Amino acid sequence: MSGSLYIVSAPSGAGKTSLVSKLIMQDSRIVVSVSSTTRGIRPGEENGVNYHFLNVEEFDEKIVQGDFLEHAKVFDNYYGTSKSAVEAQLKARKDVILEIDWQGAQQVRKLMPEAISIFILPPSKEELHKRLTNRGTDSEEIIERRMQDAVSEMSHYDEFDYIVVNNNFDIALNKLQSIFTANRLLKDKQAAVHKNMIEALLES
Ligand code: 5GP
Repeated sequence: MSGSLYIVSAPSGAGKTSLVSKLIMQDSRIVVSVSSTTRGIRPGEENGVNYHFLNVEEFDEKIVQGDFLEHAKVFDNYYGTSKSAVEAQLKARKDVILEIDWQGAQQVRKLMPEAISIFILPPSKEELHKRLTNRGTDSEEIIERRMQDAVSEMSHYDEFDYIVVNNNFDIALNKLQSIFTANRLLKDKQAAVHKNMIEALLES
């Protein structure tokens, strides 16, 4: 039995990346897919770790080759998920997280309806504004633009299977972990994992 595919989406400032990083640190069966992007590398990021950083020509070539499971223009840049990498990880029985936007989520749901999708929300607009402001030295104009982008992303929350509100980090992490746990406890998965044990239990 292969691993499960999870989609995790959120507006910028909801704490998605921190939650997902902690989740994978605590559970070696979960991995995050490394996307490709045409956006510039930010300080502290590493090519091949945070993203595969490509130029537009290289990105287009991958689209033509059919390398992407999904791809989308998110605000000003292009982002895409490698089909072969995700398939290999699922085959290796890993639970794979796609940290993608609502457009990518729609594409993946069509192709793989069994994917489990989770949307992370901030507790309020005030808190979101605070988090976006605390990030650095951006002008109020840039922060306003991010707020508008966040509202546009959040308007798709009801397309997702699960909602996690990130008010308190540890509580949100716990809720996220619960979703993975519950999915692993589904009857068909347990029946496969515990095949011999169940057979032995049912022997008369
Ligand atoms: P950032 O540039 O801040 O890392 O990410 C910006 C947005 O792009 C986030 O909402 C993130 O979820 C989305 N994103 C990152 N990788 C992918 C991807 O492979 N596909 C899609 N559709 N969105 C992505």
